[in-house]
Amino acid sequence: MLDFNVPPFTGKEFDYIKQAVEERKICGDGRFTKLCSEWMEKRFQVKHALLTTSCTHALEMAAHLTGIGPGDEVILPSYTFCSTADAFVQRGATLVFVDIRPDTMNIDEKLIEDAVTERTKVIAPVHYAGVACAMDEIMDIAKRHGLQVVEDAAQGVDAYYKGRALGTIGDFGCYSFHETKNFSMGEGGAVVFSREDKLEDAEILREKGTDRSKFFRGQIDKYTWVSYGSSYLPSDMNAAYLWAQLELADEIRADRMATYDFYHRELRDLAEKGYLEQPFVPDYAQHNAHMYYIKLKDEPTRAAMIRHLRSCGVHSVFHYVPLHTATAGKKYGRFHGEDRYTTKDSERLLRLPMFYGLKQEERELVAESVRSFFIH
Ligand SMILES: *Cc1c(COP(=O)(O)O)cnc(C)c1O
Repeated sequence: MLDFNVPPFTGKEFDYIKQAVEERKICGDGRFTKLCSEWMEKRFQVKHALLTTSCTHALEMAAHLTGIGPGDEVILPSYTFCSTADAFVQRGATLVFVDIRPDTMNIDEKLIEDAVTERTKVIAPVHYAGVACAMDEIMDIAKRHGLQVVEDAAQGVDAYYKGRALGTIGDFGCYSFHETKNFSMGEGGAVVFSREDKLEDAEILREKGTDRSKFFRGQIDKYTWVSYGSSYLPSDMNAAYLWAQLELADEIRADRMATYDFYHRELRDLAEKGYLEQPFVPDYAQHNAHMYYIKLKDEPTRAAMIRHLRSCGVHSVFHYVPLHTATAGKKYGRFHGEDRYTTKDSERLLRLPMFYGLKQEERELVAESVRSFFIH
């Protein structure tokens, strides 16, 4: 059976983990954490990249740093992972879901402004599949209404909007290094931002409410508990695993892109004949081949396709069940406007195997198996 996902592994991981252990520095903010952070800051042109224990935790930090609280509202898509919402629920904020655009599955920027009220504090766009949201429009709405923007770029690491790295356009960006993402450390993530006024608060929040980061930089001679905080810094052993991939980021990217382009080419005639729909990448987006999905006619067709692919030895998976239809979504939020595409298109979407190191014969098996569902 061809797996849907295999965690990225380049070969250097064991060596780097061994180094971290031998250097007797395995807690947070060691040498490998620094290498990863500096790499991100340079490549993504952002002032600060703080490694975290997950993207969920990066989102929690970002939500906290916006100052959003009970009675305030956050505008987000319903078609996303629950972590985007959880971070704001933790602050006591109310979720306001807005419909997606069917072409990219991203929040429809044209529907955001109508959902803004005097209580809105934050817009949280999600760059689905590493394809950028329409950030100029979103930032313009935020500016005109005095809102902050938290980008859920969990899937958008090393993807770009008009040349700017996803996650670096809004006030805060959140990355995931979970094993299902392009670069991994098992569980992990990062919060990135360029606002200097937020660095100290972010460091304190990440280090149990202490000013230990300043202490490590030699700026103060002892550290104390200065504010509320949690423990959001990952072990340097995890960072060592991640570093092995960031070093080879271009190779990982090219390999995933080759899979994406192969699927896209091979399935084009099926799309032209109307059997399925292929993903769309707007001109303003430079994606990172995080995902390859197809959209089928309806949910029963998708279920039949999943069974067919399994019988061909291919594991395919669907994705999010819209948050506003979930128990927690109903409890903590509301859907603003009409649900034209969120439910309908989430039920039609199917993700094909996509991971670093997928072999050419495996790519061919996937494409042939999709084809044989329609054409016998
Ligand atoms: C994976 C993902 C997350 C959560 O990332 P973790 O690192 O597992 O916490 C959040 N949002 C989106 C859109 C994701 O794809």
